Amino acid sequence: MKNYPRMITPSTEPYDPIQLAEATQQIVCRPEDYARKYTSVYIAGVYGGIATAYAVGCPLRCTFCWVDDSREYPERRGRFYTPEALVDALWDAVREGYIRKARISGAEPTLCKAHLLAVLPLIEDSLFETFMLETNGILFGADPDYAKRVAQYEKVHIRLSLKAATPEGFQKRTGARGESMELPFQAIENLLRAKASFHVAAMTDPRLMPQTERELLITRLADLDMMLAENLEEEQCDPYKATIRRLDAAGVDVKTFFSNAGLDV
Ligand code: SF4
Repeated sequence: MKNYPRMITPSTEPYDPIQLAEATQQIVCRPEDYARKYTSVYIAGVYGGIATAYAVGCPLRCTFCWVDDSREYPERRGRFYTPEALVDALWDAVREGYIRKARISGAEPTLCKAHLLAVLPLIEDSLFETFMLETNGILFGADPDYAKRVAQYEKVHIRLSLKAATPEGFQKRTGARGESMELPFQAIENLLRAKASFHVAAMTDPRLMPQTERELLITRLADLDMMLAENLEEEQCDPYKATIRRLDAAGVDVKTFFSNAGLDV
């Protein structure tokens, strides 16, 4: 991809997230042994403790993203794990304790389809009881077959995070072309059709998303499935160092942005 997008600034040209996914996959997927890049694997405190693998690479460039700079520089960060090595690493993290939950988080876990589709049967056959897959929905929206194949695993629960409900909001907050906003909504339709276990989250922090857009998002979700709207997980933007850097680069006055939280940035 010409001009691989790094940090989004007010002058960054909007990009096509599918093209960015393809370009990123050239860097973070190793097709010959189904390996993919991760920065680390350890127990995270969320969900009451969960073994977490942090994936390298994303087809979006959200201004509020907390992921480290492996998002912008996937070629410099992380190391390759085969599916077997990844599941072993997740299990090693919890072996001595009582935790039986695992997830892939970090940037975008659905990059490297062949890798993920090789990891999931291993998880299904493991002693892990549940597996959380956190996604922005770009690839599940573009590829109904992918959504269907992931949905067949009983231990998998998907958390799909929406970034916007208008093309303008999507372009402003992700740097991607506004019309790509439809892909995550298409992903929801694909997951509903596949009867996947999933719920929807959304970055509805009022400092980022106007109330009218939030209402539009909830209405659109309710039109697809009332339960999804009722169980919507609303996200807040926290002042991680990476987030502050990205908001600043995007032209946001971060001191004002975080002043309501009483934080000294
Ligand atoms: S917030 Fe998620 S979808 Fe957005 S750039 Fe970061 S990792 Fe990608």
